[in-house]
Amino acid sequence: MKDSFRQQGKRKQLVETIKEKGITDEKVLAAIGKIPRHLFMDSSFEDHAYQDKAFPIAADQTISQPFTVAFQTQLLAISPGEKVLEIGTGSGYQTAVLCELGAKVYSIERQQELYRKTKRFLNELGYRPKFLSFGDGYKGLPSYKDYDKIIVTAGAPFVPKPLLSQLKIGGKMVIPVGIENQTMYLFTRKSAKEFEKKEYGEFRFVPLLEDKN
Ligand code: SAH
Repeated sequence: MKDSFRQQGKRKQLVETIKEKGITDEKVLAAIGKIPRHLFMDSSFEDHAYQDKAFPIAADQTISQPFTVAFQTQLLAISPGEKVLEIGTGSGYQTAVLCELGAKVYSIERQQELYRKTKRFLNELGYRPKFLSFGDGYKGLPSYKDYDKIIVTAGAPFVPKPLLSQLKIGGKMVIPVGIENQTMYLFTRKSAKEFEKKEYGEFRFVPLLEDKN
């Protein structure tokens, strides 16, 4: 798998672009600067890999826009060793960013084709998430709770209760909520029953789907 000087150079420019758009977390910027995003995309799109845009991947899904990946990750303020649950593995790009930050990553994907492909690919690239699961993200992964952080990478029509309940006290969850457009929310679990909720602007994601295909 090739990572040319040209691609590395374009990646540096991408880091500058997302910095200008407001990403300040140095560890997040370093992760974006390190991960060969072009390898997460079909070869016909390789030239577009270092534009700050979402792109189609397999099974009608998208690899999220780098700014969005960085923004959600920055909101979670991840420390090495934290247990992070990701909903929507997709291409595995966000998974790789979490791994670069030293998180213990658990991730769920509902499309079997993507689940299989991404599992193999992340392994080839040397990323070692703790557990990749094929299943329904609305339910979370209760067997591995409690999570320090949860990141939802598809647009949720509502906030799934099981996800909030799998968050440890003091933990944070970032989730885009809405149908056409989504509002980014950051939940912080204050106690068993109390959650603080903050809002962070409008985004666009593919939908978090309820039924398996
Ligand atoms: N984190 C991904 C973003 C992929 S787009 C990346 O960096 O590439 C969102 C992903 O969520 C898609 O792969 C989609 O199949 C998946 N998805 C949608 N509904 C889901 C659900 N209920 N459970 C798990 N994954 C889901």
